[in-house]
Amino acid sequence: MTETTTQLSAPLLAALTAADEDRIVLDLAGIEERYEALQRELPGVHVRFAMKACPVDEVLACLARKGAGVDGASPRELEQALRTGVRVGRMHYGNTVKSDRDIADAYRLGIRDFATDSLEDVAAIAAHAPGARVFCRLSTSGEGALWGLSNKFGCSPADAVQVLEAARDQGLTPSGLSVHVGSQQMTADAWHSAVECVADVLTELGSRGMTLDHVNLGGGLPALGYLDRFGLPLDPPMDKIFAVIREGMRYLRGVHGDHLEFVMEPGRYMVADHGAIRAQVARLSERRGPDGERQYWLYLSAGKFNGLYEMDALQYRLVFPTHRDAECVPAVVAGPTCDSDDAYHHEHGLVDVPKDLTSGDPVWVLSSGAYSISYMTEGFNGFAPLPYTLTNAGRP
Ligand SMILES: *Cc1c(COP(=O)(O)O)cnc(C)c1O
Repeated sequence: MTETTTQLSAPLLAALTAADEDRIVLDLAGIEERYEALQRELPGVHVRFAMKACPVDEVLACLARKGAGVDGASPRELEQALRTGVRVGRMHYGNTVKSDRDIADAYRLGIRDFATDSLEDVAAIAAHAPGARVFCRLSTSGEGALWGLSNKFGCSPADAVQVLEAARDQGLTPSGLSVHVGSQQMTADAWHSAVECVADVLTELGSRGMTLDHVNLGGGLPALGYLDRFGLPLDPPMDKIFAVIREGMRYLRGVHGDHLEFVMEPGRYMVADHGAIRAQVARLSERRGPDGERQYWLYLSAGKFNGLYEMDALQYRLVFPTHRDAECVPAVVAGPTCDSDDAYHHEHGLVDVPKDLTSGDPVWVLSSGAYSISYMTEGFNGFAPLPYTLTNAGRP
């Protein structure tokens, strides 16, 4: 467990230690460093933070000061980003699902870049955001991702050509192609396949006399601090992923021209490891299940509806700061509500937890900075959403 705490930045560790109530702590300096690391790994790539991963004003403002833009999914998100100081030219409407009114509202805010994946949506953009630039999203399998995004978005290569031609014919600017390989993508191969698919479409468009100026390689970059189902570090192959992306960009420029610019929309990667939840033990109980087996259940004050929405797909590192080096028992970890989904999925097996935990003992949930605040309910079962605090005001 000492090994676990060395994973925490000093400011996060200090904030968690000091907290005597439940909360989410975000380390702005850590988030800034992640942004800088990404720029070093992928020089020249325009970063559009997928704000749904952590729609916190201070986070948006600090990334905006560093030069990042945002990927927004609704007029309300885009408005929040504008309010926090993100430049409108660095924002795009990345959701292919939007009503006429959503498009008109975004256009009124000054948004000129829109993702799309259908002829119907293109016609609506032409009507309500005349002259806008469009990015056609290509579908991906989502294979290799812990949180896949396939099916709902994107079109086939052949349809993408049609969609972009229709956009041109309706007075829009066909600007780019986009892909999303699925969230917490663990394989470099996923980007390799995505690049191949983009290259095919660019070649086909080129043969029809169409030249695009952008490729958006989406989100999906993994957080580093989750565990696998056996409780071991997940250890995503970051060097390989970045190498494949860099090589992919070179290749695509070769296919379509050196003018091609690249965008990425990381969400999870930017914030997950720089946020942590301070929760507490509600109860450690031992119960007999329907099969007669006795099993430990650790009920925490935070669960699926107040900060750990992804707990059935991801396994977080838990730290019990008052019980270091204690004797452990294997337990199912669950949240506090009356919903049976409010638990780590059994597929993930059991988590070793100190045997003598008592109600009120603090628990730290590491790498929980992404998709925690945005997915909280207003207070399902009366369990209030967790407040957030920042470890510092960020560097100037
Ligand atoms: C959610 C989302 C992202 C961010 O995905 P991560 O896996 O968190 O990086 C990026 N782009 C789009 C269009 C999204 O919907």
